Amino acid sequence: MPEELYPSSYVCDCGQQIDFFENTIREMKAGSLKKRICIDEGGADPHLVYFFKGAFDGIYCPVHKKSYDLPRREVPEDLKFTPKQGQYLAFIYYYTKLNRRAPAERDMEMYFCTTPPTVHQMVLTLEKKKLIARVPGVARSIELRVPREKIPDLE
Ligand SMILES: [Zn+2]
Repeated sequence: MPEELYPSSYVCDCGQQIDFFENTIREMKAGSLKKRICIDEGGADPHLVYFFKGAFDGIYCPVHKKSYDLPRREVPEDLKFTPKQGQYLAFIYYYTKLNRRAPAERDMEMYFCTTPPTVHQMVLTLEKKKLIARVPGVARSIELRVPREKIPDLE
């Protein structure tokens, strides 16, 4: 299974690591919300790295001459959340859309005028309910797992 090394490197199943500029990957992810797009590593017979729905989606390997696709990220079955949790989801959605990167917990503290432990607890709860995914210990790694149409308006 190919791997994404945060923030902008990829490792193919053949062992090759492919590095891009962080800005390039941010733009690719932003451009992949509606369609699957790819970028090549350059040179002759390059690896291709695919993006879809704002995330890394797979690699085409010229050595093995085949594609390795990531399993589709599942949408949580149970989309129930409280109004307060909905506001956090909406904030994450709009913040990410406007800034092209996910909010840090500090951004949520300021927006909701609340304390670090409250925000952290909320992030853990949303993650436990599979409404968001994140990489523990990595700043700005929150990813929404709720489809756009289920996200409430930000009040
Ligand atoms: Zn490869």
